[in-house]
Amino acid sequence: MKGTMAKAHYQVLIIGGGTAGIMTAAQLRRRSRKLRMAILDPARDHWYQPAWTLVGGGTYAMQDTRRDEAAVVPAGVDLLREAAALFEPEANTVRTSNGHAYTYDHLVVCPGIKLDIDAMPGLREALATDRVCSNYIDPEKTRRVLESFQGGVALFTQPATPIKCGGAPQKAAYLADELFRRRGVRGRTRLVFATPGSVIFGVQPFRAALEDVVRKKEIILKTFHSPVRIDPGKQEVHFKWNGPGDDPRALIGEQGLPQRIEGDGTIVMKYDMLHLAPPQGAPDFVRHSPLAYAEGPNKGWLEVDIHTLQHKRYPNIFGLGDVAALPTAKTGAAIRKQAPVVVANILQRVQDGALSKERYSGYSSCPLVTGYGRMLLAEFKYDNVRDSDPLLSKLVDTGKPLWSMWVLKKYVLPWLYWNRMLKGTM
Ligand SMILES: Cc1cc2nc3c(=O)[nH]c(=O)nc-3n(C[C@H](O)[C@H](O)[C@H](O)COP(=O)(O)OP(=O)(O)OC[C@H]3O[C@@H](n4cnc5c(N)ncnc54)[C@H](O)[C@@H]3O)c2cc1C
Repeated sequence: MKGTMAKAHYQVLIIGGGTAGIMTAAQLRRRSRKLRMAILDPARDHWYQPAWTLVGGGTYAMQDTRRDEAAVVPAGVDLLREAAALFEPEANTVRTSNGHAYTYDHLVVCPGIKLDIDAMPGLREALATDRVCSNYIDPEKTRRVLESFQGGVALFTQPATPIKCGGAPQKAAYLADELFRRRGVRGRTRLVFATPGSVIFGVQPFRAALEDVVRKKEIILKTFHSPVRIDPGKQEVHFKWNGPGDDPRALIGEQGLPQRIEGDGTIVMKYDMLHLAPPQGAPDFVRHSPLAYAEGPNKGWLEVDIHTLQHKRYPNIFGLGDVAALPTAKTGAAIRKQAPVVVANILQRVQDGALSKERYSGYSSCPLVTGYGRMLLAEFKYDNVRDSDPLLSKLVDTGKPLWSMWVLKKYVLPWLYWNRMLKGTM
């Protein structure tokens, strides 16, 4: 624990000290020195996950993406090194897996997302082989797999569940393409990107720019492909076809890929190396709590108003980050715009019980690394509407992959994260 003895009651109790928890605590601390606050999180490490794409591509050191959790918690905020286990919102209480209880005036829920490895049969066993990797789980292994690949089918895929940073799986494919060219193995490689989505990216003009990247890199794009099972012994991924019409038979045989149809229309594709994003969901203690949607398409995710980030049934609870049911991409960039809304609303409520005028518009951004030294910054808000920064747009064409955006990704954003965002000054 950081600070003095743990108090059982806090004015603001924050569940999760990741990107969202630390940004929220730091901003609250700057604006009110008096609030009694704690972050509940058992983690020893705090990770800057956006750089894991670069680690996987062999151009960033994993240890530079880590800090001690205690070192990023703002001074004056207690760090309770325990895992939240149970919400009792009627009693303003959170119970931990150690059996402790903490009460609060305001609760902020942001424990991130759960990587659900066991939701896909064969995935756990596949990850134990030296041909299967994921930047979501072990980006250093991705680097090793890409560097030792000798040609064949390099398959990149993502699940049908919501995932954090929806662009990350395709970024891995773009870097792999360039690395394989440098290593002289691209000529004997068929690089496949298989996605459950209908398009490579949902927002124009970024979609057109990325389709161009895919074409130029000669990546075989497979849409409507939901991975459902892996057979690591045979080096095969089983896909459910979720496209219009129910017969994917017409697709088989195209591009000379080693693929076949089995039984009810499952597409089975062989791989020589596989990169994937695992299925993801809300952490179990949220999913099974009264704070989550009990049914519908958002079932299990934290039920908050999409503009105020206030819980829909418990007004002294707020939620943000990957766990929140918000119809936009789950990214750190989104949290940078969410945290000020939560902070303003809590401070206003402490003052007079009302909500502030701050609203979240659904802003998120996806820095799509398209190669070493090239990046396209896709910024958007709710309803897939482009929302590029007006100042940046005056200086450069953010609808295209650029070297300047790569510099932003590799050098500027990590610095801003550790020194400004986590300090509550940005
Ligand atoms: C490969 C990859 C690439 C990415 N690229 C980008 C990018 O380019 N740009 C971008 O903006 N974002 C990117 N992201 C996404 C970004 O990292 C996440 O959206 C962001 O970290 C989410 O913040 P969070 O606070 O919600 O969750 P996290 O930062 O994951 O933090 C969750 C915290 O909650 C804690 N916790 C979990 N369970 C409990 C519990 N029971 N009790 C208490 N605490 C608990 C955890 O220990 C953790 O500290 C990427 C992510 C990955 C994996």
